[in-house]
Amino acid sequence: MKRTKIVATFGPAIDDDAVLLRMMDEGVDVFRFNFSHSDPQTHVRNALRIRKLARESGRNITLLQDLSGPKLRLGDLPDGTLRLSDGEEIVLSPSPSNDDNSKVLPVQFARLSSFVSPGDRILLSDGKIHLEVFKVSGSDVYAVVVKGGEVSSRAGINLPGKELDITALTDKDVRDIEIGSEAGFDWVALSFVQRASDVELARYYLKISGSNARVVAKIEKSSAVKRFDDIVNVADGIMIARGDLGLEIPMEELPVIQKRIIRKAIYKGKPVITATQMLDSMIHNPTPTRAEVADVANAVIDGSDALMLSGETAIGRYPVDAVRMMRRVIEEVESSEEYRYLSSRPEWEREIDESVAYSACELANLSNARVIVAFTFSGMTAINIAKYRPRQMVLAITPNEWVVRMLGMVWGVKPSIANVLESFEDMVYLSRRRIVQNRLADVGDRIVIVAGLPLKIPGITNLIHITEV
Ligand code: PGA
Ligand code: MN
Repeated sequence: MKRTKIVATFGPAIDDDAVLLRMMDEGVDVFRFNFSHSDPQTHVRNALRIRKLARESGRNITLLQDLSGPKLRLGDLPDGTLRLSDGEEIVLSPSPSNDDNSKVLPVQFARLSSFVSPGDRILLSDGKIHLEVFKVSGSDVYAVVVKGGEVSSRAGINLPGKELDITALTDKDVRDIEIGSEAGFDWVALSFVQRASDVELARYYLKISGSNARVVAKIEKSSAVKRFDDIVNVADGIMIARGDLGLEIPMEELPVIQKRIIRKAIYKGKPVITATQMLDSMIHNPTPTRAEVADVANAVIDGSDALMLSGETAIGRYPVDAVRMMRRVIEEVESSEEYRYLSSRPEWEREIDESVAYSACELANLSNARVIVAFTFSGMTAINIAKYRPRQMVLAITPNEWVVRMLGMVWGVKPSIANVLESFEDMVYLSRRRIVQNRLADVGDRIVIVAGLPLKIPGITNLIHITEV
């Protein structure tokens, strides 16, 4: 059983029940709904449909809502598209009634001019087009085209390295959280997070919508990289959103930042997703490039909880092949000697639950156990064990259905539902049964059970028991 989870982005390419089931068979653990595209009600309908498919076919599938966030965009162009040539002078304007000679591009952000000054770079259309600002006048920004191309209506605008005094939650995001609560998303990803308070604000809106969803902070601004230590403390999970991040910072910094973020997220017990362009060429081709295969393998070796496919599954020609390829690479790496387990070690200040979790991993190794069973109300005990990246599969048993689904995105955890148990003997009995049912070990194999006593009181992890199946 693979430890690293796969996130597949939903889209027209997989909008078919049979295809969705094949994707699950090939190893998809999480479906992501990108609220930057399509209308929110359609996303909710499809999320509920996947939930139903998963239930009917006896699978655990996690659902991730990805909010669009404050992405700066162009407005609508009169002809839909416009060609920009090298050396040409243009104006970016929130109120394009300009009688200037230059070409005018409408922008949807009124305060663009307050964030740029002459000499600054502006990128359009995922970085395909480069502009350099030479004049700012009122709310208009004058720029020269350094690298031209065709732009379309609503193309994305990136201001590399700029911190913007806007929160990561737009009015649309707040509405989408509310609408998303109907679908019961398990995780909600926040785009363009810049500071810890962005995450706290999202949590507030989730709470008042009655949602249990955990918050993933997408790291795609240089300000988020700078404040990562604060952000990782308040977020429940992290996404290395390499698409936008690669535009916001010099691209050559990406690989090292990826490794640093993953290391710190694991250390804090925050599930971390490595995202974007992992098998990009498979949008058009049935096989990936060698470099892409190596990127997937390295993201696994770095310790990612999950790897994400975007266009590959949303709009690509080979969505099922992309998932199969990703799963094969994951399995190959995880069964190799290059894959290191027990990556982080506790310090003196560790809390009791963390010390127990770490000790359970050590005990499992020393005693050559096959499985670590975690009884957990909120999922935290399982996450605390997984963060030490044990060699053993972690079987998480919880009475909460939303915890089962939430844990589907966490490295090495196989979640399972059970009623609240009455006694310690029940726990041992249930552990053995679930292990055999899920073929995690054979009769006679050693197992380690982690739990909290007294039972039924959440937030306690204070017991390690070693036994056999
Ligand atoms: P996006 O986020 O696909 O929503 O832009 C991921 C990224 O920027 O890499
Ligand atoms: Mn992005």
